[in-house]
Order: sequence, then C-alpha cells, then structure tokens
Amino acid sequence: MAEQVYVVHYAELALKGKNRGYFESLLASNIRQKLGPDYKVERLQGRIIVRPPRGREDEAKERLREVIGIKNYALAYLVDNDALFKEVPEIVNLDSAPSFRVTARRTDKRFPMNSMEIQAKLGEALIERYPKVKVQLSNPSLTVSVEVLEGKSLVYWLKHEGIGGLPVGSSGRVLSLFSGGIDSPVASFLAMKRGCRTDLLHFHAFPNGSQVKGTKIEDLARQLGRFEPSIRVLLAPYHYFYVYFLNYPERYHLVLFRRFMMRVASKILMREGYDALVTGDSLSQVASQVMKNLKLIDKATDSLVLRPLITYDKDEIIEKAKEIGTYELSIKPYRDCCSMVSLHPSLNPSEEEVLALEQKVNYEEIIDRTLNEVEEMKI
Ligand code: ATP
Ligand code: MG
Repeated sequence: MAEQVYVVHYAELALKGKNRGYFESLLASNIRQKLGPDYKVERLQGRIIVRPPRGREDEAKERLREVIGIKNYALAYLVDNDALFKEVPEIVNLDSAPSFRVTARRTDKRFPMNSMEIQAKLGEALIERYPKVKVQLSNPSLTVSVEVLEGKSLVYWLKHEGIGGLPVGSSGRVLSLFSGGIDSPVASFLAMKRGCRTDLLHFHAFPNGSQVKGTKIEDLARQLGRFEPSIRVLLAPYHYFYVYFLNYPERYHLVLFRRFMMRVASKILMREGYDALVTGDSLSQVASQVMKNLKLIDKATDSLVLRPLITYDKDEIIEKAKEIGTYELSIKPYRDCCSMVSLHPSLNPSEEEVLALEQKVNYEEIIDRTLNEVEEMKI
C-alpha cells in the first residue's frame, strides 16, 4: 500500500520571487515547531510534506489548521509514477460516490503525458473499476487530485482549508500592546497572520506581576500561542503611572496612560530589537480612538505603530475573535487598568496641556521604574 502523508500548499509565498526558498523553509520550520519532533517535515518541489507517526493523522490535521501560512492541506497517498495508473483505482474508493472527476497537475515535465492526458487516462482506469460511477466535470461528488512530481505523485480527494497569511517570522518582530479586551487579541492575531513574530506586552493593575498568572491574560496568550508557538508575554506594572497621574484632570487620564504605554513599549522595542508596536485601536470606536487622540498617542513614540483593526467595525472584530477562539476569554471579568482611568476621555485634547501635565512629573523616572519591574510570564 502506498505511503500516506499530508501535502501542504501555501499561497502568497509563490509570488515572492527570489525569497521563495526562504519563505518555504520558514514555513516548514514553523510546521516542525507546531507538530513536534515525532513528525517528519520536508520540502518537496514547491510543497511541504508532513509524515505523521502512525495513528496520529487526526492530530496532524488539527494542528496544521493552526499554522499560519498554509493555504490548504490534504491527507495524500504518495505513489510511484511508474505505478500511477495501476494504483490510483486501488486507492480511491468510489463505492459511495455517484460522480467524480480527476484533476491532474504535472510539475515533472519529463513525465511522458500532459495533464489532460493524465486526467483522461486516470478517469478511464477508475471507470473500469467502478463502471456505475459517472464522470462529471462540474460539481462532481468527488474530485480526485493528482500532482505528478519527480518520480512520485500525490493523490488525494479531501482538501482542508488552512488559515492562510504569511509564515510567522517572514515580516519581522512586533510587540503587541495587549489589554486582554476583545480587540487587542484580534490585532495580535492579524499581525501574526501578516508574518510578524509577535510578543505581548500587558500593563496590569496588580501589586505584583505574578498575580497575572491564572487570569484570562494567561489563557488568551495560550490561545494566541496556538498560532505563534514562540509567543512571549511581558508584564509591566501600571502603579507608578497611577500614583503620579491620579490627581490630574480625568479627561486626560486615558490619553496620558496610552502615551505612557507607548513610551514604555518603545523603550522595550529598542532594547530588544522589535521592528514595530501593534495596538488594537479602531478608528472612533471609543473617545480615546478618535483621530485627535490617536495623533497625540502616536506622538509619544518614534516607533512604527501598526493598527491592524483601524478600519474594522466592532461586529467584524467580534466575529474574528470568535473565529480564533479569543472572544469567550476576552469577555471574562478582569482587574483592568483601563476601567480605572477611562471614565470620560476628552474628544478634543489640547496637546499643550497634555505635554504640560507630563512635564510636571519626573517622567523618565516613572518610565525607568516601570521598566525595572517588567517581567516575563511563562506560559
Ligand atoms: P481592547 O479590546 O484591545 O482592550 P479597547 O476597545 O478596550 O481595546 P482601549 O482600552 O482604548 O480600547 O485600548 C486601545 C488599545 O490600547 C488596546 O487595543 C491595546 O492595544 C492598548 N491597551 C489598552 N490597555 C492596555 C493594557 N492594560 N496593556 C497593554 N495595552 C493596552
Ligand atoms: Mg480595553
């Protein structure tokens, strides 16, 4: 019997010209990391082949669903080209299929038949074996796919959709400001899906970072870790900011806090070599995300700030959050710092006033103290 493997296809990579080899090997290594050492993963002529240990095909199917950069994948038989026309009718079972078609692709141009001829000959071989079954070119109940490679062919008929996107790591490293609300987990996911290695930075309102352990922040980070197995979670205390700014006008609390987070995040970015920051802002969703506030928040940093959700409606964000399994975790109650500062943010902040407020305190010291207490939470 022919060997069974998963064949993995990727999409956008194919467009990437001379980077293609790099993208492919990155995707292969991400798949290896996700599946663990029991699996064999190798590149094969523009595809990736995964060999699951015997009996663990379903586990592989579940895990491949969560690897960013995979367009689709299928459990396939690997057949010697010499035996193609003999073996396909043995492998494919059409007992319960009223109709079928064969689609063939040939990457080995030395194979003596072209795709059309391969399709026709395989169709005939199948009809001979299953005389009652009809060939039907549009909407058949089963499509047998054959990819003729050098020496071997892949044969499959059930394709699973992958997440798509670019392999994590192909677009740089980002630090995502992560509140644990509905939006920032989705923004983080979208950054991953665009190829960013993504770590999370969470500002917490506990006396001690170890108290974040066991909260929804940890659960959310785990969930996102399914798509980005190298994910790290950094925790920063919010209390130094709070102590200094508590008595300032309430309408400026949130913008001051957001600017403070940007400052701290930028320092970490420089120290640890991240390429950009990510936030879950969506234009005009709340007062702190109107254009004027976003501008003022951006002015606190020189870093590139990516806002994947900037044009998303809340409904669209929620839908995405449900799809990636973060929604139910995000809506759990949590001791959130924003709920302490965000009562009535100004829609029309004055830059001069905000800068003047920041100058009243020893800002660098607050940032340094906060940075000194940044810690990593193991997940
Ligand atoms: P979210 O659902 O992501 O919390 P939100 O709609 O509640 O978003 P804000 O509270 O204004 O909006 O936060 C906007 C963005 O600021 C967040 O998406 C996140 O990137 C960042 N942010 C807010 N609070 C924190 C925090 N405690 N730690 C880290 N980042 C935060
Ligand atoms: Mg929030």
